[in-house]
Amino acid sequence: MRYSANIERLQPSATIAVSTLAKRLKEEGRDILNLSAGEPDFDTPQFIADAAVRAIRDGQTRYTPPPGITPLRKVIATRLSERAGRDLDWTGVVVTAGAKQALYNATFCLFGPGDEVIVAAPYWTTYPDLVNIARAEPVITFGDEADAFKLAPADLDRAASERTRGLIINTPSNPTGAVYSLQELTAISEWARDRGVWLISDEIYRNMYYEDGVGAAPGLLDIPEASLADFVLVDGASKSHAMTGWRVGYSYSDSRLAAKFADLQSQITSNTSTPAQFAALEAYSNQAAAEESVSRMAAAFKNRRDLVTRRMDELMPGVPYIRPHGAFYLYFRVDHLFDDDVKDSTAWCSRLLERTGVALVPGGAFGDQRWARMSYAASEEVIEEALRRIAGAANGD
Ligand code: PLP
Repeated sequence: MRYSANIERLQPSATIAVSTLAKRLKEEGRDILNLSAGEPDFDTPQFIADAAVRAIRDGQTRYTPPPGITPLRKVIATRLSERAGRDLDWTGVVVTAGAKQALYNATFCLFGPGDEVIVAAPYWTTYPDLVNIARAEPVITFGDEADAFKLAPADLDRAASERTRGLIINTPSNPTGAVYSLQELTAISEWARDRGVWLISDEIYRNMYYEDGVGAAPGLLDIPEASLADFVLVDGASKSHAMTGWRVGYSYSDSRLAAKFADLQSQITSNTSTPAQFAALEAYSNQAAAEESVSRMAAAFKNRRDLVTRRMDELMPGVPYIRPHGAFYLYFRVDHLFDDDVKDSTAWCSRLLERTGVALVPGGAFGDQRWARMSYAASEEVIEEALRRIAGAANGD
C-alpha cells in the first residue's frame, strides 16, 4: 500500500511497546504498577465539572468559533496579562483540543520543507514527529547533562544552521522535570530574537513547580518584552487542572499568527468541545477555587517529588537521576543495568515490567536510550512499592 510523503516519517508512539505489554499483563491478572502515565492521578475539580454539566443543561452544545468562545479567550488573556504585567490582546489566544493541537498548529503553520527546527532534548516524544509532519527537519539538541540537559546559547550556536527557523523548549520539562531559570530563559529568548528564530515554549507544567514551596515556574511572559523572540506560548488545563480528557489547551501568539492557527483549525477539527470550553472558562475565571485545587495538587506532587528522590537515594544510591524541580517525572539512568540480553532502555523497561510488574517509559521515547522515566503521579504507597521493586531488579534480587 502506498501512503503520502506527509506520513513517510511518522512513528508510532515510542511508549507503545511497554504500555501494550502493561495492558496485556493486567488483563492476565498480574499486579501492575503503572508509572508510565503522563497525567495527574487526581479527578477534575468538582466546580469545573459542574460548570460543564450546567453548560450542557443550558444548551451549550453547538459549534463555537474555531479559536474558542470569546469569554474563554478573554479570560485566558486576562490571566496571561496579569503575569506579563501588561495588556495582552485576547485575539492572540487560540483555544485548542489540548496543548498538543496548539503545538501542531504552531509547527504546521510556521515550518515546512527545507526548514530546521531545534528541539531541546530529552524532548517530549511528540515534538520531533510534529516537525516531521510539517516536513521540516527536527534538530535534536541536548544541553549539558550536568545542568539537567538545559540548553544554553552555546548549545544553540552549535545546533543552528542557515536553515534554522524554530526552537522548541519545554519548561518544566517532560521527562526531566528541569526548569529554566528566568535568566536562562531570557538568554534563550534573546538568542532566538537575534537569529530571527521562532521560539515555541511549552509551559503545560508551569503550575507544577517545587522551588520555594509551590508556585509557578518562570515562563516566557515573565521575561522583559525587549528580550522576547517571536514566540508561541503553549499551555492548557490538562495538567494544572487535572483535565487531560477534556481536551482544552491554548496558544498565545501575535494575533496575525493566531488567525492562521484558527484558519488551520477551522479546516481540521473546528472548535474543541463546547462543554469543555465552558468547564475551562470556569477553571480560569473562578480564581479562588482554582487556586485552591491547583495548589493542593501541586503540594501533593511536591511531597511525592521529595519522597521519590529520597527513596532513590536510599534504595539505589549512585544511580544518576535528574532532580526534578517541576512536572511529575523522575528521569534516571539505567544503562549500567544493561547486559547481553538487554541493550537499551526499551528492552530494560520491558524486562522490568515482565519481572516486577512496574511500567515505566523507556528513554528512547525522549531521545536517549540510556534513561528511563518514572511518573510520580501516583499514590505514595504505589511509588514506594514501585521503587522497592525497581531497586530489587537493579540490585539483581
Ligand atoms: N506538552 C507536554 C510536555 C506534555 O507532557 C503533554 C502531555 O503529556 C502535552 C504537551 C499534551 O497536553 P494535552 O493533553 O493538553 O494535549
